[in-house]
Amino acid sequence: MKILVSNDDGYLAPGIIALANEMRTFAEVMVVAPDSNRSGSSNSLTLDRPLTVYRADNGFYFVNGTPSDCVHIALTGGLPFRPDLIVSGINQGQNMGDDTLYSGTVAAATEGYLFGIPAIAFSQVEKGWAHVDAAARIAREFVQRDFDLLDKPYLLNVNIPNLPYEEIKGLRATRLGKRHESEPVIKTLDPQGREIFWIGPAGKAKDSGEGTDFHAVANGCVSVTPLQVDLTHAAQLDALKRSMA
Ligand code: MN
Repeated sequence: MKILVSNDDGYLAPGIIALANEMRTFAEVMVVAPDSNRSGSSNSLTLDRPLTVYRADNGFYFVNGTPSDCVHIALTGGLPFRPDLIVSGINQGQNMGDDTLYSGTVAAATEGYLFGIPAIAFSQVEKGWAHVDAAARIAREFVQRDFDLLDKPYLLNVNIPNLPYEEIKGLRATRLGKRHESEPVIKTLDPQGREIFWIGPAGKAKDSGEGTDFHAVANGCVSVTPLQVDLTHAAQLDALKRSMA
């Protein structure tokens, strides 16, 4: 089995090192990741400058681009490796509910999915790497499961509680929850006295009831959400056709 590993926290992040090490125990692995933290980059491709692929001492490839750039280059002839599976992460911090729209971790997986390759995004809830080894072990056990019942390619979004391995209560199939709108932008001044802005934090969970990713993780379970890429609002399409008739 050949596995392509990427992330959005950059090739030096503890999460991708732990994930690659676990995948290597049973698969042929190639790592291609951004050269720096590109969290929140979503599905962006770099089109206004060329990209370079570098090779680190540990064999990881890194790119001066986004997570989507990395997987795109790997799958379109930039690297001699056709994976059976793409895994992304392990992200530092959750990617639940509307986070998935902004997430570079999910985007790296999505890029593989768009090329017809099964893909799984792994994120660990809360910042810090206290239990990254537990999350990596769970990721390995998850990847080694049999997903023959799923249509291929599949795109799975996995969120792992930040707990010791023994305290994690199992897997839950979930739907994405929803958040309230984001917190306000943070306005401050730069050293020259000019007004600058920091994007504020994500909003609090709004739909976090039973069956959601938020609910599973809050109860100590690993949340697994199957994702798709189809933004067409079918019901609105019918209404739109009627209103334009
Ligand atoms: Mn990240």
